[in-house]
Amino acid sequence: MESLVIYLILLLAIVAGWVLGRFTARNRKEQTRDTGDIFEDYFVGLNYLLNDEPDEAIDTFIKALEINSETFETHLALGALLRRRGKVDKAIKVHQNLLGKPGLEPSFSDSTRLQLAVDYISAGLLDRAERLLDDILSENSPAKWDALRHLITIYQTEKEWEKAINCSAMLLANSAYKKEAELKAAAAHYCCEFAEQFLKEEQPNKARELIKRAFSFDKDNVRASLLLARIEQLVGNFKSATKCLIKVRKNNPEFISQILGPLAECYEQLQNMPEYEELLSNSLPDGPDVSVVLALSQLVKNRAGDEAAIEFLNDYLTKKPSLTGLVELLRLQIPKAGAKVGSNLSLLQLTVDKVLRKNPAYQCNHCGYESRNLYWLCPSCKKWDKIKPIMESGSF
Ligand SMILES: [Zn+2]
Repeated sequence: MESLVIYLILLLAIVAGWVLGRFTARNRKEQTRDTGDIFEDYFVGLNYLLNDEPDEAIDTFIKALEINSETFETHLALGALLRRRGKVDKAIKVHQNLLGKPGLEPSFSDSTRLQLAVDYISAGLLDRAERLLDDILSENSPAKWDALRHLITIYQTEKEWEKAINCSAMLLANSAYKKEAELKAAAAHYCCEFAEQFLKEEQPNKARELIKRAFSFDKDNVRASLLLARIEQLVGNFKSATKCLIKVRKNNPEFISQILGPLAECYEQLQNMPEYEELLSNSLPDGPDVSVVLALSQLVKNRAGDEAAIEFLNDYLTKKPSLTGLVELLRLQIPKAGAKVGSNLSLLQLTVDKVLRKNPAYQCNHCGYESRNLYWLCPSCKKWDKIKPIMESGSF
């Protein structure tokens, strides 16, 4: 069915191209291919089609459609159509054929090279696409902005973060693109990716520079704030790290589960656990993620013992029931129960815990992709920043 659509469009394109070609030739008194030749190709193509030889049919149809300024766009569109239908090799052939045409107007040449670059990207021939796009960029033609977009795609795929950042900066310097939120978010993530490489190499100062650059693209980027907190924590600036983490809590409360671990470590280093407890207690009235309740219960346990933690959890769960909270409550109560009841409660705790572990913890708010792990780039729709933690705010 899909192939049939391609063939029908090809047939229509050939007829349109032939009519236009004839009309133009008559006006310009140019020599075109004879009508008989075209219809001969036409029937040869149909014959291939009827004999279920689609590749030969496509070749014949493309050959039948003459290249001239009137049919140029049709050829270009045919190539793009073939690529979208998965026939990348045919698309490459169509676009290469167009480029090989002598005396091609510069704007036609640019459009064809852009299409050919997309073909190469689809075929995984990234080096070839990069060379083609670099040529367009060096010529400073109007097509350079599209070339930059495609180059960013290539550098993102190849994890060449520095080049991806530079191309994004060039594109965002153009007033037509500087307000594109997705472009800015992506640029901030390229900086974060690059910063993570420096962190692995234990070069926190270089990583910090890149985080600054990330904020220049997207001042509220959560990942950049989390990374900056990690850098400050690594070099012992616990107060600065705490500030970054509190910024995430304020600007992106849905990411609160991500900050609790490092925040607890920082306050521990600062020997100021009461302030941490106060911070979490102040979050409770906002209907927080259950992770805040669990962290608080742990703090109460460390400060005042198991009974106080059980009382805190009991009180909270009575108002806002939560399965995760229930598992924690059981964990605290099992050691206090008798052998038989304790064993039954253990079984209940394990069962509920097993069910909960199968639940996704993150979801993409663009395509709905669900996962147990946090991905900054959605593996399904390939968009940055769309995956968010699923908050369990205290109800079943
Ligand atoms: Zn998605």
